[in-house]
Amino acid sequence: MIRNDFLTQTIARLSEKPEQGDEYLEQLQSEVCGVVLVYGDPGYDEARRAWNLNVDQHPAVIVVAEDPRDVVAAVRYARQTGLGIAVQSTGHGVVRAANDALLIVTAGLKDVQIDEGMNTARVEAGARWGEVLEKAQRVGLAPLLGSSPNVGVMGYTLGGGMGWLARKYGMALDSVLAFEVVTPDGRLVHASARENTELFWGLRGGGGALGIVTAMEINLYPVTSVYGGNLFYPAAMAKQVLTRYRDWVQTLPDAMTTSVVIMNYPPIPAVPEPLRGQTMVIVRGCFAGDVEEGKRLIDEWRAWCAPQIDAFRTMPFSEVAAISMDPVNPMPSKHTGAWLWGLTDDAIDALVRGGVPQNEPLPLVFIELRHGGGAIARYDGEDAAFSHRMGVFNLFINGLTPTPEARDAFTRHTDVIKAQLQPVMTGGVYLNFLEGEEARRRTQDGYSAEAYARLTALKTAFDPTNRLAYSYDIRPAQ
Ligand SMILES: Cc1cc2nc3c(=O)[nH]c(=O)nc-3n(C[C@H](O)[C@H](O)[C@H](O)COP(=O)(O)OP(=O)(O)OC[C@H]3O[C@@H](n4cnc5c(N)ncnc54)[C@H](O)[C@@H]3O)c2cc1C
Repeated sequence: MIRNDFLTQTIARLSEKPEQGDEYLEQLQSEVCGVVLVYGDPGYDEARRAWNLNVDQHPAVIVVAEDPRDVVAAVRYARQTGLGIAVQSTGHGVVRAANDALLIVTAGLKDVQIDEGMNTARVEAGARWGEVLEKAQRVGLAPLLGSSPNVGVMGYTLGGGMGWLARKYGMALDSVLAFEVVTPDGRLVHASARENTELFWGLRGGGGALGIVTAMEINLYPVTSVYGGNLFYPAAMAKQVLTRYRDWVQTLPDAMTTSVVIMNYPPIPAVPEPLRGQTMVIVRGCFAGDVEEGKRLIDEWRAWCAPQIDAFRTMPFSEVAAISMDPVNPMPSKHTGAWLWGLTDDAIDALVRGGVPQNEPLPLVFIELRHGGGAIARYDGEDAAFSHRMGVFNLFINGLTPTPEARDAFTRHTDVIKAQLQPVMTGGVYLNFLEGEEARRRTQDGYSAEAYARLTALKTAFDPTNRLAYSYDIRPAQ
């Protein structure tokens, strides 16, 4: 299907400079090892697709890069033709659809090299966490992936990266040693604690607004077995479980990263029978230390009240995806969130009211509160652009939104929940847990005032014409 404004603008652009446009495109095609696609080419529709099926984008040109030099050539082409540049790895976190822009798809940049002696990895921008996890686990090491190994390494890390080892080792961005990045003026540079240090600071939390990262070097950690899983309690116990969770997390060592979830399992065959169509309140966790100590901490819940389903166990870290059981196949979804400084009784009531259906289904799948602190808060707040390290709970609300009506219903419902949670909100947001228009509207709330001012200065220096305007809304100074 062709969007009218897309067609009109493309025709207008080509009729302005027909020969030059063609000439630049031919030059791009001749320079690139990967694939260059325009509307109508076989593969165009597949390349423009995002994991989130709510995204329906129509780029003017797509470059599926296989080599960092492809990215350099693509950036030069965008400068020649005046196109904006969008970047996509998996499409789990599209902030702004790449309509009429040049879309650089990094999926072909897949190389993952583990340095066993140094406990590090060099990971190219199109890799997914599962690929890094598998290679690292073979030599007894672990990366700081999130709940889903299907998510891309780069968008996740540039936005922060809060996974099941976060309280022990910090956010994923805290473990980046260096980036290889193509700047919006088409230079391939390194950014680390020694080179381009301000860019290194900004990329760690600044999302894709400053450059196109082609690879990064990260620290890995010696984690092979964890005590992890889920305790499922009936929805009727939601208030008691959340109240107990609020008190319990205050006693936890940093080796324990946890969350509490109100989950409305959809009534679909993909969900196993005891859970299908049910609402459960779930205590989730991953203890990265002596498994007996982890078990003792979870035994406190078992002693308090036997769960309906007990799915905590000693597991190889390679199976960490079993904790969150995130969906793998592409789906239409929407999410939102915010940092909370704590939980009051009123806040717990608001979460239970907003998450547990009474007489009719709710327009959301889950509400999750991830426990912060630990190593996340121990890193120096000025070390990276990422801000709000002192948030105690990271709220993440997700919905299945196959239609515009479902999207509107999700937004209306979650706006009510968030309004009721205002008294416990810090005012800060975790940008990885926002998407689309909300991520752009609330970009400033993702940072401290100082960090946002520094990001604006970086943007002015590196991207004065805001060519990378498809990520977080960080604008150059006028
Ligand atoms: C099922 C699911 C589970 C999740 N679990 C977690 C979790 O546990 N913890 C957490 O912190 N987050 C989590 N997230 C959020 C996730 O981190 C973000 O959606 C993230 O942006 C996804 O990155 P991506 O590269 O896969 O996605 P993409 O949509 O491909 O990219 C996301 C953004 O990153 C930018 N970007 C991507 N690659 C590059 C690059 N090479 N250079 C510059 N910019 C780039 C793009 O501009 C885009 O704006 C989850 C999301 C989903 C859908």
